[in-house]
This record gives sequence, structure tokens and C-alpha cells, in this order.
Amino acid sequence: MRNTQIIRPGAVLGILGDGQLGQMIAIAAAYLGYKVAVLGPGGRDSPAGHVAYWAKAWRPDGVVSEELLDEFCRLVSVVMIEWENIPVSLVERIEARGIPVRPSSNVLRIAQDRLFEKELAESLGIPVPTYRNIEVRTQDVGPGRETTDRASILKTRRDGYDGKGQIRIPRGGSIEDAWRHLKYVPCILEEAVFFECEMSVIVARSPPTADLIIPEAVVYGPFENVHENGILRQTEYPVTNDHAALFFPGVAEAARNAALTLAMNLDIHGLLAVEFFVDGNGQVIFNETAPRPHNSGHLTIECSDTSQFEQYVRAACNLPWGSEHFHSSGRMINIIGEEVSEWMDHARQPRTGLHLYGKGEAKSGRKMGHVTHHWTYDDE
Ligand code: ATP
Ligand code: MG
Repeated sequence: MRNTQIIRPGAVLGILGDGQLGQMIAIAAAYLGYKVAVLGPGGRDSPAGHVAYWAKAWRPDGVVSEELLDEFCRLVSVVMIEWENIPVSLVERIEARGIPVRPSSNVLRIAQDRLFEKELAESLGIPVPTYRNIEVRTQDVGPGRETTDRASILKTRRDGYDGKGQIRIPRGGSIEDAWRHLKYVPCILEEAVFFECEMSVIVARSPPTADLIIPEAVVYGPFENVHENGILRQTEYPVTNDHAALFFPGVAEAARNAALTLAMNLDIHGLLAVEFFVDGNGQVIFNETAPRPHNSGHLTIECSDTSQFEQYVRAACNLPWGSEHFHSSGRMINIIGEEVSEWMDHARQPRTGLHLYGKGEAKSGRKMGHVTHHWTYDDE
């Protein structure tokens, strides 16, 4: 038994945010007999809203009225998040009403800021790219003067996703010019890492039980991720391609240990996804965290005994973990923008899980769905 209370099937679980991650959490929750209430920008007409028991939209400026929050909090036993940029103040208002939010406002405060999460990783001895804070104009960047001493990337500290809020600066390029494009919001300047590959690890964690009967955490990965234009294109697990050597136990263990160390130090209750670069020497370098289900973990739906979404529900409700065993190999490919019009080609493929999120407009760069090709060891 966990030292926190079990939330039993039949309860309503709250979700903040209403995109595809919320949709897949809601579906996993339904399998375990829970209902979900979704609060997000789209309300009923959103990927999560389509499958929710209750769904309402917050105001277009993101404000949630006291009445709406009261209604949501009366329904739910626990609140989960599907988008890490949920305002911390909203999470605090829910916590103040006595409803647990998993992960808590303390975790979100760190995970929402690229400077804070890099400082944390560095303080725990996890290698990070060289970086510095770019915040105060006169002090940190002499207007128009300072140039980079190596190829770099300027990233907004907050609110970035899918490569948005990032500008590459070549060696000798102007920091000020890039910063102007990012409207002088607080940023970090980091070296461009010449990596061999990118990987991610997903940790599901609940604070340890007094009797230590249930393990504190389960760990998935590392998965190999390939990005195009800053957006995840493909994830593979296990890795059998040219990069397989970079997934040898030593490297894989370094990534798993780093992710677990971060999860424990954040004292997270829920999921923590951690992205890494791996250089030619097999060194694992921290990139960023996401305290929620992660795009690279979608293949756990088809390939493992318990998906990342179900594991998140189990964590939030203080249930025992499901088995994280992988019974199949898999390759997940995102369906981005107009590519969604080819959905029938995927629907015809054998051994392919097709997931369409039900988003209206196929805007360029928008994640519209994904497919997971999966095979068992016997097929190889
Ligand atoms: P997402 O939320 O989709 O994971 P993001 O917008 O939060 O992405 P990052 O993960 O920081 O941003 O960057 C997106 C991608 O850009 C990385 O996965 C990597 O391919 C590339 N990238 C980011 N930072 C660096 C770096 N310092 N050196 C080399 N490539 C980088
Ligand atoms: Mg990323």
C-alpha cells in the first residue's frame, strides 16, 4: 500500500490541457474504469474533449474563472497535466482547494524554465551543453556588439515546443540580432551540440511507500528520436540501426540513471520524460525535461505491457505499476500537417497502429496523428 490514498476506479480524473496527450491519457483512464474531466483551450471540441466525460474551455486569454474552477474541482479527485506550460498559478489555485495535482506546482516551476532545469541537471552532475542566461539587456549582451564564439542556439527560457522559440546562430553571429527576433524575452544561449543521435527516457514515479513494497519508479527507454526542423519525426525502440552501438548498456544506463536521478530530485509524482543528445564518444548530454507523457513514448501503446499513459494514470491514482516489459519492437512516425490526408495508406498497412487525433485544421508543422509499426522478435 502506498502511504497516499488510492483513488479508486469510478472516480473522475482531471486533466489540464486538451490535446492528443490528454486524449491518450483519457483513453487509458477509461480502460481502468475512470472518467476524465478536461479543462483546456478547446473545451469539448478538442482531441481530449472528444473522449472526455466533462470538458470545458478556459477563456481565450487563458484565464479560468473561479466559477469554472469550482465546477472542475467539485468533480475531480486528482488532476493530471498534458501540457507543461500550464500556468503555475492555475495549479496553485487547484492545490489550494485541496485537490492534488500530479506533478505539483513545484515541479512545474522548474520544468517550465530551461534555465532552471539545466541548473538542476548540472548540479546533479549530469553533463549539459555549455549555456548561459540571457536576461538583462545591458549586462548580458552589449547591444549589437557581442558575437558567439561557437555555433549556438538561442532559446526562449519558457513556452517553447516543437522547435518554436529557438534561433540558431552561426559562429561569429550576433546574439543581439537573434534576441531581437525573440522579442528580448529571457533566453538561454547554448552551444550547438554535434550529436550522433538523440534519445529519451521516460520515468513513471510515485513517492516511495513506507514499507517499500512497491518500487518507487519504472523506467522506459532510452528510445532513439529523429527530429526534422525541430519537430520529432520518428522514434525507434529497441535500436537496431547504425546507432545501436550508442545504446549499449553503458550508454543506456547512463541515460536511465540520469533520468531517474532527475525524477527523484524533483520528487515528481507522475511522469518525467528526459531528452538527451549522445555524442560520438557515447557521452550522454542532457537537453530538456517534460513532466508529462512524451511523444517518444507513444510506441509503448503497441509495444509494451503497459503504456506510458496507463502508467501515468496508475501513478496519479496510487495504484501498483503495470509491467513495463516490451513484447514487441516498434517504430513510431508522426503524421504532421497535410500528411494526414494520406491516412488511408496507413490504415491499409499490417502491424501498424494508426492514431488520428481528430484535430480540425491540418496546419503546417501541426501534429495530426502518428503511426506505430510493430513486430515481435519472432518476425525478425
Ligand atoms: P520539443 O518540445 O518538441 O521536444 P522543444 O521545442 O522543446 O522541442 P528542444 O528539445 O530544445 O526544443 O529542441 C528541439 C530539437 O532541436 C532537439 O531535439 C534537437 O534536434 C535540436 N536542438 C536543440 N538544442 C540543440 C543543441 N544545443 N544542439 C543541437 N541541436 C539542438
Ligand atoms: Mg525537445
